[in-house]
Amino acid sequence: MDQYPRLMAPLSVAGITLRNRIVMGAMHTRLETLDRPHERLAAFYGARARGEAGLILTGGYAPNPAGVFEPGAPLLCERSQLAEHRAITGAVHAAGGHIALQIVHAGRYAKHPLCVGPSAERARINPIAPRELTTEEVWQTIEDFANTAELAWEGGYDGVEIMGSEGYLINQFTAPFTNQRTDEFGGSFEARIRFPLEVLKAIRRRVVDRFLVVYRISAVDLIEGGMTGAEVAELARRVEADGADIINTGVGWHESAVPTIAASVPRSAWAYAIENVKRAVDIPVIASNRINTPDGAEALLSSGCADMVSMARPLLADPDFARKTRVGKAAEINTCIACNQACLDRIFTDRTATCLVNPRAGREIEFMPKPPEGTKRIAVVGGGPAGMSFAINASERGHRVTLFEAGNELGGQLNMARVVPGKNEFNEMLRYFRTRLDGLGVTVHLGRFVKAGELLEAGFDAIVIATGVRPRSPGFPGVDHPKVLSYVDVLARGAAVGQRVAIIGAGGIGFDVAEFLLGDAEESLDPASFLATWGVDPSLSTSGGLSESAETVAPAHARREVHMFQRKPEALGKRLGKSTGWILKSRLKRANVAMASGAVYERVDDDGLHYTIDGKTHVLQVDNVILCAGQESERGLYEALRSSGANVHVIGGADVASELDALRAIDQATRLAMTV
Ligand code: NAP
Ligand code: SF4
Repeated sequence: MDQYPRLMAPLSVAGITLRNRIVMGAMHTRLETLDRPHERLAAFYGARARGEAGLILTGGYAPNPAGVFEPGAPLLCERSQLAEHRAITGAVHAAGGHIALQIVHAGRYAKHPLCVGPSAERARINPIAPRELTTEEVWQTIEDFANTAELAWEGGYDGVEIMGSEGYLINQFTAPFTNQRTDEFGGSFEARIRFPLEVLKAIRRRVVDRFLVVYRISAVDLIEGGMTGAEVAELARRVEADGADIINTGVGWHESAVPTIAASVPRSAWAYAIENVKRAVDIPVIASNRINTPDGAEALLSSGCADMVSMARPLLADPDFARKTRVGKAAEINTCIACNQACLDRIFTDRTATCLVNPRAGREIEFMPKPPEGTKRIAVVGGGPAGMSFAINASERGHRVTLFEAGNELGGQLNMARVVPGKNEFNEMLRYFRTRLDGLGVTVHLGRFVKAGELLEAGFDAIVIATGVRPRSPGFPGVDHPKVLSYVDVLARGAAVGQRVAIIGAGGIGFDVAEFLLGDAEESLDPASFLATWGVDPSLSTSGGLSESAETVAPAHARREVHMFQRKPEALGKRLGKSTGWILKSRLKRANVAMASGAVYERVDDDGLHYTIDGKTHVLQVDNVILCAGQESERGLYEALRSSGANVHVIGGADVASELDALRAIDQATRLAMTV
């Protein structure tokens, strides 16, 4: 508390006292698509309220059928739907929390035939073109927003958040490029902001004063034809005048070509845009985007750029973020690493959200703690994400765990990920693992290559093998030529790499190696450098806050000539994460990385890499060929123990190497620890 006086300070607003300044930001979970959705949502939000979040904002509910994202997406427009919501608000209030329902109309982002917008302009990320709303329909939509707010109040919510950012309907009205209307809702700035202001006034007419109304403003649109900073500030003033209690901030539209929340975005990069809103109003302002630690949050508040901080993904990663902050255990927070792998990437591919570092997220009712049948002595071999996760979770259930790691440090593959520019957040994951292993009293032996006989002799009740993977050798002639390196040589052993490079294999690691060779760590740590790289205008004087198109800004550091290859005849990077793959591809394209698919590797010799594409043979003169051709399981120890009849389990890469990632490793380890 003493360390975070501003973050932990209560806030009284609209007759409610919020216990601290931590807001769980709205996030779609898709939990509503599963069985017993409201029981799941109640457990999900209830856990965050027990973890002492000051205010929870739900994922968005549409005010009418045209406003849903896709068929079956959340909608609140009838009283008959309220019983389900009372389960959610009841769970949060029982834990002493506060919760507001977000109302969002998708507008032209809706993926169904009812899709509407201020104008009939199709969004580049949606194949469906919207129908232009008639003036009468605009007024009806305003009433629909107010109706949903009134229902939220009846359903026990403490307030609503009006979603006015990220390029949804309200934002489509406020930005000139999506609003070409000629009625009272289009044309001048005054007419364009009329829609959100009428929504706000209509809601205020329908709900009591002591009902929190949050307006989420687009602090910077990051799209050509968006609002200028002066327009954003004026909208904020008008929102305050028309009855909002709090202004939350959003950054960018879903169709922006600038990353806004990925790990490659520096922490608090958008403070300049949030401050522009804060300076315009007297009501509390919430900062959002790339805030994931109590220190970062406290620093933002003490800089005066905001009064509260919104964290959606960080509270997915650790529901107890606020409580741990209050009791002085910030080092035990399971920090969101901004990877998007288990949350946004799953949502964008029609799956439910969970979290890479916390597989319990969204599955609270599946992971109800079960007491073990007795304390066991368990050996874990391998200190990568699978081994460490298992050790922590088993230890939390009361087992006595000993972890053996052959290397001199914990982390396994994480130690390679964390050196890649834009992936420094992996350091937080390691800090969490180390702190928990230490706090739980797990015995850790580093530099210890343990053999089957020793483990059997020690008489452990169970042995868990998490020995990971070894790089796959593609097996063409010349893989032992001095020019050839593996990704482990480059990322973990500091091998010297020449100016002209060929990368064999274009999975996540091939792209990581390219980024390592070309990227600049500074860009993901220093906001000014990041903004310049992506053509963002920090003075906010331009429309949408952009100085030039992100696609044309040359990278500051393209130090090498890099050629990437894969055998599959498809575009490289097609299988990278949906929400982050485009960022990597855009950066490498701008660094002139050559990408070739459908390659057949012939050999490596003093002349370089010999390969064939479409039957035509080429020789690429390169200084180095770096193998990123996937992995194979390291299973020797497991096989030896299994044949001896020991109680042995195998997890992570040692179990299945193909397409292994930390998400699958941690999930499998956590599930095993729940049952062992
Ligand atoms: P991967 O994704 O399986 O990619 C392996 C690459 O090697 C593919 O491009 C494959 O393409 C090629 N390859 C496979 N067998 C080969 C052979 N015998 N000879 C030549 N080329 C071969 O593996 P990875 O890149 O090592 O990544 C491992 C895991 O970590 C993956 O699950 C990945 O998603 C995850 N990861 C994720 C990220 C991220 O940013 N989300 C970053 C790093 C790693 P062809 O078969 O077409 O040649
Ligand atoms: Fe954060 Fe990654 Fe978890 Fe999403 S999956 S909440 S980005 S750690």
